[in-house]
Amino acid sequence: MAALDSTLDSIWLPYTQMANTPPPQMAVATQGVRISLADGRELIDGTSSWWTACHGYNHPHIREAVSHQLEVMPHVMFGGLVHEPALRLASRLAALLPGDLERVFFTDSGSVAVEVALKMARQYWINGGQPKRQRIIHFRHSYHGDTFATMAICDPEEGMHTRFADAMPKEIMAELPTTETSHAAFDQCLALHAHEVAAVIIEPLVQGAGGMKMHDAQTLTRVAASCARHNVLLIADEIMTGFGRTGRLFACEEAEITPDIICLSKALTGGTLALAATVARRHIFAAFLSDDPAAALMHGPTFMANPLACAAAHASLDLFTQEPRLAQVAAIELQLKDELAPCRQFTNVSDVRVKGAIGVVEMRGEINLTAYRTRFAELGVWVRPFGNVIYLMPPFIISQEDLRMLTNAVVRVVSEYA
Ligand code: PLP
Repeated sequence: MAALDSTLDSIWLPYTQMANTPPPQMAVATQGVRISLADGRELIDGTSSWWTACHGYNHPHIREAVSHQLEVMPHVMFGGLVHEPALRLASRLAALLPGDLERVFFTDSGSVAVEVALKMARQYWINGGQPKRQRIIHFRHSYHGDTFATMAICDPEEGMHTRFADAMPKEIMAELPTTETSHAAFDQCLALHAHEVAAVIIEPLVQGAGGMKMHDAQTLTRVAASCARHNVLLIADEIMTGFGRTGRLFACEEAEITPDIICLSKALTGGTLALAATVARRHIFAAFLSDDPAAALMHGPTFMANPLACAAAHASLDLFTQEPRLAQVAAIELQLKDELAPCRQFTNVSDVRVKGAIGVVEMRGEINLTAYRTRFAELGVWVRPFGNVIYLMPPFIISQEDLRMLTNAVVRVVSEYA
């Protein structure tokens, strides 16, 4: 194998200061919950590869479905042509989603799924004769992607996108209504801005890359109630939470709400291929029906609805019924609560929280990410803290012993830096 240094000469890595960050690990194979490295080590994956690999890696059912589709039709454009894997997947998603969330627009990444949701929401009001309603309300600690429109609805204090602050649309950040008092404030914010606002966007129950913050179903219910009261659309970004991560197939189910638009990606294909879906309720879709060609949704990524990715998504959905995924998530939740609790005793820990198959240890202040990440790899686990949080989001198929390896490593590393 070529030396690692030479292979890095042409690559530009994500979220990485290339001047001084130590070289990344070289992955050569994956199987189950394990990532094999070029140096012969095997790491237990505590991240599900950015929260995607819910069935673990190389599940035979997904592999077979994709191999079969590869023989038949790996790709065909989706403009003017459709295909069975996409049409059937759209129907399956519509049947699984709450209420009348029934019109599926496929894209190929989470950020673009959110972009499409924003376009749908804004154009809904334009088509409906209220073109001033274009701004978006998002929440503190939000993260919705890395493209321009999605950067504008990330919490600006979280710091990732400050370089582009001047180039982004000016959106409105609100506090999550976690109490009755803050609900009144949120409701007032909507009352004040409803005339200029297209939609509120929320990551239901767990906010991801903006700090792994959690809120309860009641908060979600309050947000939905205020949106309904002020006739503002609600977009649920379930790119991280969708497909079982919080304990239900979709986090919105726990609050029994039906957002106007929902965004899905990541675990949609079991983490095997790039696919995303923006799903709209019936009345949103209806607002685009007109004799005016300009009233149509003008979006169409080249690789939208890629048949291989659709085949993978079908196989992934099969696995949610063929194997006890949600029961596995419930068991992971109990084990995470139990085994991460000892972290509370350390003075450098400010909070420990668990929801579904997400376990978070929040540290006081910034941590030395490089040192922590290196230490985790030394302990045989793939755990990748960011900001001041250490989190575990393992594949749902993880065994008790392997999950214990992950939680033990977290407790150990936290204690070493206490
Ligand atoms: N929205 C949420 C809630 C996410 O967690 C992410 C990615 O982490 C995105 C959007 C962006 O998805 P992608 O990285 O596929 O563009």
